[in-house]
Amino acid sequence: MSSSKTIRSRSIWDDAHAMLEKAKAEGISTVWDRAAEQTPACKFCELGTTCRNCIMGPCRIANRKDGKMRLGVCGADADVIVARNFGRFIAGGAAGHSDHGRDLIETLEAVAEGKAPGYTIRDVAKLRRIAAELGVADAATRPAHDVAADLVTICYNDFGSRRNALAFLARAPQVRRDLWQRLGMTPRGVDREIAEMMHRTHMGCDNDHTSLLVHAARTALADGWGGSMIGTELSDILFGTPRPRQSTVNLGVLRKDAVNILVHGHNPVVSEMILAATREPAVRQAAQDAGAADINVAGLCCTGNELLMRQGIPMAGNHLMTELAIVTGAADAIVADYQCIMPSLVQIAACYHTRFVTTSPKGRFTGATHVEVHPHNAQERCREIVMLAIDAYTRRDPARVDIPSQPVSIMSGFSNEAILEALGGTPKPLIDAVVAGQIRGFVGIVGCNNPKIRQDSANVTLTRELIRRDIMVLATGCVTTAAGKAGLLVPEAASKAGEGLAAVCRSLGVPPVLHMGSCVDNSRILQLCALLATTLGVDISDLPVGASSPEWYSEKAAAIAMYAVASGIPTHLGLPPNILGSENVTAMALHGLQDVVGAAFMVEPDPVKAADMLEAHIVARRARLGLTS
Ligand code: SF4
Ligand code: SF4
Repeated sequence: MSSSKTIRSRSIWDDAHAMLEKAKAEGISTVWDRAAEQTPACKFCELGTTCRNCIMGPCRIANRKDGKMRLGVCGADADVIVARNFGRFIAGGAAGHSDHGRDLIETLEAVAEGKAPGYTIRDVAKLRRIAAELGVADAATRPAHDVAADLVTICYNDFGSRRNALAFLARAPQVRRDLWQRLGMTPRGVDREIAEMMHRTHMGCDNDHTSLLVHAARTALADGWGGSMIGTELSDILFGTPRPRQSTVNLGVLRKDAVNILVHGHNPVVSEMILAATREPAVRQAAQDAGAADINVAGLCCTGNELLMRQGIPMAGNHLMTELAIVTGAADAIVADYQCIMPSLVQIAACYHTRFVTTSPKGRFTGATHVEVHPHNAQERCREIVMLAIDAYTRRDPARVDIPSQPVSIMSGFSNEAILEALGGTPKPLIDAVVAGQIRGFVGIVGCNNPKIRQDSANVTLTRELIRRDIMVLATGCVTTAAGKAGLLVPEAASKAGEGLAAVCRSLGVPPVLHMGSCVDNSRILQLCALLATTLGVDISDLPVGASSPEWYSEKAAAIAMYAVASGIPTHLGLPPNILGSENVTAMALHGLQDVVGAAFMVEPDPVKAADMLEAHIVARRARLGLTS
């Protein structure tokens, strides 16, 4: 393949192609180059049949004709090893989301105690509403900081071992909660389920693949209805509940005349304070003194989604654009917290004037400038970081700057509160549109990029296919940037939707693809499903809904997929998890779970076929509800 063909095969975007050409010319290797070097991958690892859980091994399971290597040294077979590995994979994802959620509890606690200068409770009404929902006494009338302190205690307790069920589980329809109870799937405590997953997968504990998968589901549910939901709700309380707002997307949001600060990672506790620091008069003056017209904060990955939802700041790119954002030569600082931040960014930043700044003790990178941010010092530290970016700007080499493309307009900010507000305070108009067949169903498209798939090809094609079929798409995570760049996050994209969906979008002035937030904000989709199911008096597994992660890569995406399925939402994955080495685990994931939780996984790399599969589920569910297809 010619070099330009190779570059075009890596991504569907012009801004990516331009930066891949530049990277090549400047001798910079990217995630795609390293993926090529790593191909072919180890077959045992791909199939999930390798185990390193003790040092009698490592062991690999093979289906050899001579019958050797069928069992690990301890006697574990392929089913047990695959299920154990998958369980730990899910636990990793649940831990990531939930530890992020814990950081929000700690921040709200510091605010309640008056120990977090610069932070405040921006949505007091939501604080009171959530506190009342979770049982805080006199939440409507007591001082906000006292209410927050009580809410903090309830949220911390959800991480512990003294509960029989997580507090937000009460949002799920009773019939679903009863099912979880019967199956032993009710999540009790976030840390408890994660720790128990690690315990069960130690040598000599849970050696039954079905039992392991049930606990994997329980661990994932602790993420979706616990850690992630706490993360979302407390972020709204602290930083404001998102409302629809306009913004822009792609590498064109970077500016030649401004100090460009790219926030990367997941936690709005850092990125919100960076944004606040850039608005301080003294800091702005320092930027002007350095010759910059402005300070431009733009987002990468999910902390970008957090700021986009609440503040309308532009998105420079998703997962596979993060290296290329530095290659523009215009990124003065990358400010990272944690998750999805490729270590390669440190090396690439070192090829330019870019300051790569880490802020979390949980996310240290050798070679980075570490400025540790905690609620008590965030204001001062974030100011310091912005000054580092201004200093870097003075060292920017204009000859190496190339900002490709023009920004594309998007509309974001569709929290459940904003959606209900647009509907007049009740989900009834939405339900009416579903009953009438104008909206045939909903699919949450979530997650990532993966260099195994041409960047955003599956994310965009699936989204287009679904809206064309009158299926509304709810986007979170890195899919957002893809849908935005494709022009699907504006009300005018109604023209690309089927007739029924287009009419609903036009009457409400909303896009056919609603951006609902970051990866933890998939909890908003769970809550919306629960609300629709409860209003209709059915289970989530009866609703015409689906989920998909066409280009997923991470443990967190697997946890999301697992909690979606366990909540009754059929879920498509564009790539299989590493479970194919066990026929029993694979059969359970693709079929068996259907009989247990009313939903299962689908694996299909072709996004058009994936749309067919999701549509078939929606049609079947509509029929069961007595609705026309
Ligand atoms: S736990 Fe069993 S299968 Fe895994 S490495 Fe040890 S001996 Fe091998
Ligand atoms: S969508 Fe995937 S790649 Fe993007 S930030 Fe979330 S987990 Fe990371």
